[in-house]
Amino acid sequence: MRISVKAPAKINLTLDVVGKRADGYHEVEMVMTTIDLADRIDIYPREDDQITIDCSAYFVPLGEKNLVYQVAKIIKDKLGIKQGVHFYIHKRIPIAAGLAGGSADAAAAIRGLNNLWQLGLSVQEMAEIGSKVGSDVAFCVYGGTALAQGRGEQITTLPSPPPAWVVLAKPPIAVSTSEIYGKTKMGEITAYPRRSERMIDAINNRDYNEVYKSLGNHLETVTLSLYPEVRKIKEQMLRFGADASLMSGSGPTVFCLVDKESRVGRIYNGLRGFCSDVYAVRIIGERSYAGLPKTVQK
Ligand code: ATP
Repeated sequence: MRISVKAPAKINLTLDVVGKRADGYHEVEMVMTTIDLADRIDIYPREDDQITIDCSAYFVPLGEKNLVYQVAKIIKDKLGIKQGVHFYIHKRIPIAAGLAGGSADAAAAIRGLNNLWQLGLSVQEMAEIGSKVGSDVAFCVYGGTALAQGRGEQITTLPSPPPAWVVLAKPPIAVSTSEIYGKTKMGEITAYPRRSERMIDAINNRDYNEVYKSLGNHLETVTLSLYPEVRKIKEQMLRFGADASLMSGSGPTVFCLVDKESRVGRIYNGLRGFCSDVYAVRIIGERSYAGLPKTVQK
């Protein structure tokens, strides 16, 4: 038997840093939405009690450092499950890109194990397990569109934004989220407007023009100052006809929104001229997209 689970990436429509906590984490408000760029996790029960992982991509840790391993271990220990499990991760989401690839995999693993071991966990319980291993996992458990607060683990679901295409481009660099937060100066951040509230209004009103005008990410200035190639991609997107462009998460992936399909090709082809990692996908702001695990009997 094999269980297959989709693990979609997210983009940040907003990322407001609203404070710094005593435990060192930053307090954030983020409006995030699921996009149609996904890994797939195949889950196989094992005869023994081990947790093992294999992955189609090279730069992904296969042992205890993998977030998938970590959530499986928490579930096994917490619920006293003896059976082992093997995960095969089909990677499509670029790694260390600001698209929550590892978190998406962890969330998919939780959903899959809930199904495999018939755990009956609620979405809230799955999100709570996920937030033990990473700030974005709770959002990925919910999927769809949501406001994430706290360090990202407090989720309020939102309706889907108006339909739009997303063109994403990742320069050939990996960015460490903790490095970017470490270099974030609260004094400077407060000079930039917060965008989450305005974005939520725009989504509730299904107003595409307001959605793209409300895009904002407080971490962008930090990443742009360290990696000028990110700025170049942002500028090129606008030059090729995007309505707005923004870095996702701590970067380095930049995305732009386009509401007319006819303009997607021009932007995609223009970016391919100087960046090899380019994707054109749709926003899938619906929660159902993350989907139920599919069981395949062999
Ligand atoms: P976020 O947007 O949540 O900050 P990210 O998209 O920037 O995440 P990831 O793709 O999740 O970054 O990878 C960050 C690091 O996490 C990788 O360098 C890798 O070492 C580690 N990692 C752990 N588990 C996974 C996984 N399943 N897939 C990819 N990376 C993983």
